[in-house]
Amino acid sequence: MTRSKTALISGASIAGPAIAYWLATYGWEVTIVERAPGLRDGGQNIDVRGAGRTVARRMGIEDGIRDATTGELGTEFVRTDGRTVARFPAGISDTDGATAELEILRGDLARLLVDATPDTVEYVFGDSITAIDDRDDSVQVSFDQGDDRSVDLVVIADGMNSRTRKLVFGSAPTIRPLGLNTSYLTIPRTERDSDWARWYNAPGGRTMTLRPDTKGTIRATMSFLSAPGAHDGLTPDEQKTLLREKFADAGWEAQRILAGLDHEADLYFEHIGQVKAPAWTSGRVALLGDAAHCASPISGMGTSLALVGAYVLAGEIAAHVALRDAFRGYERIMRPYVDQAQQLPPGAPRIANPRTRAGIAVLNAAARIGASRAFSAIGGKLFSPPADEIDLPDYSRLAR
Ligand SMILES: Cc1cc2nc3c(=O)[nH]c(=O)nc-3n(C[C@H](O)[C@H](O)[C@H](O)COP(=O)(O)OP(=O)(O)OC[C@H]3O[C@@H](n4cnc5c(N)ncnc54)[C@H](O)[C@@H]3O)c2cc1C
Repeated sequence: MTRSKTALISGASIAGPAIAYWLATYGWEVTIVERAPGLRDGGQNIDVRGAGRTVARRMGIEDGIRDATTGELGTEFVRTDGRTVARFPAGISDTDGATAELEILRGDLARLLVDATPDTVEYVFGDSITAIDDRDDSVQVSFDQGDDRSVDLVVIADGMNSRTRKLVFGSAPTIRPLGLNTSYLTIPRTERDSDWARWYNAPGGRTMTLRPDTKGTIRATMSFLSAPGAHDGLTPDEQKTLLREKFADAGWEAQRILAGLDHEADLYFEHIGQVKAPAWTSGRVALLGDAAHCASPISGMGTSLALVGAYVLAGEIAAHVALRDAFRGYERIMRPYVDQAQQLPPGAPRIANPRTRAGIAVLNAAARIGASRAFSAIGGKLFSPPADEIDLPDYSRLAR
């Protein structure tokens, strides 16, 4: 009997468990190593659109996603007194609009994916890869905590700022910073909240959003224009201090959101960017998801890209004898799809985060026109991700 092939995956968020599912389906023995001590359930509503939705269907989790959708009715632009300026309803179609039809909390999707992976998939939390020695016939991997392992394949799916990526690809992949810092936190729901997402601009390139979730709480963001690298390396406490200073006089619900910082144990604070990697594969190692091609939250495509990439990478591996040929197929099928997704609207993110009151007035006027009946199709497009065109191969015959 031939032995099963073995894969080690770094990162248990969206891309990692998704490829674990598919590789296990094709008969691989899979281990996932995640740096965090447990599955991270933070984050906001994320969209599952187009081909990402098709992959979710093929994994049998589409109904689970639909059952867990946040029920958000759409997005309202609001003024400092809370009055609505413009309103964009959800689910204009699968691909249009700020609120996608299949929208789920990131942590809920990660949990669904982990639950979908068979029991044979091993999860190791609280550890990370420290060295990768790619030999011709295997890859030797060392860890911060655990014993060394020898595997047939390593998949690096540990996010935009992946350190594991550097071990194999050096400085070839670069991160293109987009000039916007974003923070995500969860705050108590109050009577002022509804099932509409609300978007508010304050002068100085500051934006806050409030979105309903399925847990009886509200997911908040605070974003501000900033120079790349200006706030890198801050501790969580320093990040909170910075946010308190930046948003103290922002108006609207700022005081309530800032109060939420006192109780937030897992503040997610990042300078958003895009990963540009000339190659996603090398020897027996592949990059996947945000580690390969983060498109940024502005794209609304990160999760769909991760799901589709996992499906294609695993499918190509199952369809080819040599990894080299599989990797070629992965790059050929995914590149055009990723290139589309990384095309951001002109002027983003500055255009949606004006620095002056006059700029905010112009943005709100544009939103009002965009949301009007005559322009509703254009309005939907304003907040839509790029076209989602990819011919998904059918690998179903390869399942064991
Ligand atoms: C906690 C969290 C909250 C998020 N919230 C949002 C959001 O609100 N909106 C949005 O658009 N996107 C959010 N994202 C990003 C979003 O999940 C991705 O853009 C997209 O789904 C692609 O996922 P991914 O699995 O490729 O990468 P990611 O979701 O970034 O996951 C990477 C995983 O790798 C782990 N990891 C990092 N370094 C190592 C290491 N050295 N070794 C092992 N594991 C490691 C991380 O802990 C994480 O679990 C969030 C990500 C995380 C981790």
